[in-house]
Formats: sequence, C-alpha cells, structure tokens
Amino acid sequence: MARALIIGGGIAGPVTAMALQRAGIEAAVHEAYPAGADDVGAFLVLFANGLAALAAIDADAVVREHSFPARTAEFLGADGAALGSRPLAGSNGGAAPRTLSRSVLHRVLREEAARRGIPVHHGKRLVDRRTGPGGTVTALFADGTRAEGDVLVGADGIHSRTRTLLDPAAPAPRPTGQTTVCGRLRDAAHTVPPATYRMMYGTRGFFGCTTAPDGTTYWFANVPGTPAPGAGPAHWRRLVAEAFAGDGTPAAAMAAATGDDIVGTSAHDLQRTPVWHDRHTVLVGDAAHATAPNAAQGASLAIEDGVVLAQCLRDLAGVPRAFAAYERLRRARAERVVALSAALAARLAGAADENTPQRSGDGSADWLTGYRIDWDARVS
Ligand SMILES: Cc1cc2nc3c(=O)[nH]c(=O)nc-3n(C[C@H](O)[C@H](O)[C@H](O)COP(=O)(O)OP(=O)(O)OC[C@H]3O[C@@H](n4cnc5c(N)ncnc54)[C@H](O)[C@@H]3O)c2cc1C
Repeated sequence: MARALIIGGGIAGPVTAMALQRAGIEAAVHEAYPAGADDVGAFLVLFANGLAALAAIDADAVVREHSFPARTAEFLGADGAALGSRPLAGSNGGAAPRTLSRSVLHRVLREEAARRGIPVHHGKRLVDRRTGPGGTVTALFADGTRAEGDVLVGADGIHSRTRTLLDPAAPAPRPTGQTTVCGRLRDAAHTVPPATYRMMYGTRGFFGCTTAPDGTTYWFANVPGTPAPGAGPAHWRRLVAEAFAGDGTPAAAMAAATGDDIVGTSAHDLQRTPVWHDRHTVLVGDAAHATAPNAAQGASLAIEDGVVLAQCLRDLAGVPRAFAAYERLRRARAERVVALSAALAARLAGAADENTPQRSGDGSADWLTGYRIDWDARVS
C-alpha cells in the first residue's frame, strides 16, 4: 500500500498524513477551503494525551511554539467565592495542557506537513468516490478534479461527506442542547494569573478563562439552548452576559467587554458511527466520533487516531486487516470520551468538578489524559 488520499486539512488530516509518511506511506491532503480561512474567537485546549500523540511523530514542537500552558485550575462558585484549585500539569509526567487558537492549530499542522514534503491541496471539496478494479480509490472533488490512491482517509470533520459515502444511513450529528461561545479580549481589568484556568460555575452556565503571556484573555462559556442561525458578535455577547448576569463572578462583565473576537456554536456530538471503514476508506477524528466540547478532547482524539491508523497500516499486511485493527484499538476509547462529554454537557449547571475535564488532567496514569502511543511498538 503506497498512496493515501487524506480528505480534510483540519487536525486529523495533517497529523494522519505526517504519521503515514513516517510509516513509509505516501499521503496527500485535500482540504475543502482555500488557505487562510479564519475562525474568530475559537480556541482549543490540547491535553497531555494529544500532545504525547503529536510527540510520537515529532510534531509537538510546532504546536508548543504557538500555544501557552496552564498548570493550575481555580474554581469560583456562582457567588464569586473561591472554591479551591488543583494542578493541571502532571505528577506522572503528564504535560501541562496547552491553549491555542483553532485556526492557528490548523495552519501550523498543515504547514508542518507541507514542510515535510506532503502535498496539501486547498479548494478540494470531496463530493464522491469511486473504486477501481485494481483496488484503487478515486476521490471526486466539487471543482471537477479527481485524485487516485490506494486508500481514502476521511478526516473531514463532524459533517463528514466521507461518512455518508461509506454509509448513507450513518446517523447525523446530534445537538446536545448547549451553545458554546468563545471570545478573546485584551483588557487589564479581566486577566487571570499566568498559566491558570479560572473556571466559574454560574447559575445558568459554565465559564472558563485563561490569560496568554501576551495579555490576551481567552474565555469560553457553555450555556443551555440552541443559537439562532446567523447570529453575530452582538448576539453572542448578549447571550453570555445575560446568562451570567445575576452571578457574583466576572463572567458577564468579560463577555460584555469583548469586541468582535467572539463566536458561538451549537454543540453537537456523534455517539456512535456504526461504520468506520470499508475495504478502501476509513474515518478519523470527528468524522468517526465527534464529542461535545465539554471534555475538551476532540482534537486530542483526532491526533491519536491519525497516529494509530498509521501504525496499523505500517504493521499489518492488507488494508482490511489494518483498518479492522485500527477500529479495534480506537472505537471503545473514542466512544467513552464522547459519552463522558455528553454527560458533562447534560449536567451543564451541575456540581463543581463534574463540569470540567481537567479533573483528569493532573497525571498520566488515568484513562483519559494518560493515554500514550508507543510509535515503535508493533501492532499485531
Ligand atoms: C466550540 C468548540 C470547542 C472545542 N474545544 C476543544 C478543546 O478545547 N479541545 C479539544 O481537544 N477539542 C475541542 N473541540 C473539538 C475539536 O475542535 C474537534 O474534535 C477537532 O477539530 C476534530 O478534528 P478533525 O480534524 O477531525 O476535524 P476538523 O478540525 O473539523 O477538520 C475537518 C477539516 O475537513 C475539511 N472538510 C470538511 N468537509 C470536507 C470535504 N467534503 N472535502 C474536503 N475537506 C473537507 C474542513 O474544512 C476542515 O478543515 C471543540 C469543538 C468545538 C465546536
């Protein structure tokens, strides 16, 4: 097996391509959007497991360079009173989680793939696929072009076209009934001590924020409800400011002080995707298992998927065997994370510590952030 067509240049796509290259398999990334698309406000946290998976293919340095760490989580009750704090960085070698803008993460991963000689094609939206008699697979793109390979990897995110091509009856993503709003602001009145996430349990939602070394404060809010289509910055500011208005925390003031660097989204997940692969095509990342944002693990899972898939294709004879092993190694873990995140979303206004993934972020021994991939170990 020599050539892989990767559909999607988000997180799973470039990581899978880099891991395949390490495994001796040629890969090219095909991304629907033109280069440079931005997503205002949106940011991500990568936990120790995702960072370790990147390190397994020597791709963590570029992410560290563009992100900043958090070593402590502080908790405030709805009245603003401090509830306590705990470490996020690990006693057992677990790295401190790192925060960075989503568009920056996409960009630096694509750039790193390109730097390693992997072709990254933009403006290539997959619409269909064909399988050839010689065991090849052809991707058909919306611009009328096509590309041929030996396998097709669907890394095309939560609304994956590859998923529906694999299984037209595949379940659609499910709204979790929660809206997540992310914002950034530069305002000395609203900063958090270095390397700290400040988490606030509001009476009608959950709010978290951290301040980057350059003084920008990043915040997110999870509030119940589904956003109106086409909502803009004024809507998101008002939604969050109103949700936390009666509380004694700074959440409402921070939302109100945020400019246009703010974006909201209706949270969706995919609890179970029945078909992950056929003989030629396989799903990775959100295409296979999208999680609600509450556990902050979707990107880390996407990275893990790409590395494990490459190991399977490296070590096992025959694509069907490799795909079956990949699913065996990944499905249970991914669905467990999706279920955890869904439970956290359902308890949106629940008790302290039930609403935050960082409860598991203090070591490498636990199942969530302690997951490690040994690149040199053979898959059997
Ligand atoms: C509000 C919010 C906050 C989040 N916070 C976190 C967090 O803190 N930590 C964390 O780990 N995860 C977080 N997540 C989840 C994380 O963003 C996803 O799990 C992660 O982006 C999945 O990576 P992916 O590569 O599978 O998909 P994506 O990152 O969505 O990338 C898919 C790519 O495929 C492209 N594409 C789509 N369709 C096609 C097509 N037909 N042809 C070609 N290309 C196509 C898209 O343009 C995109 O570039 C959050 C999600 C949300 C919504």
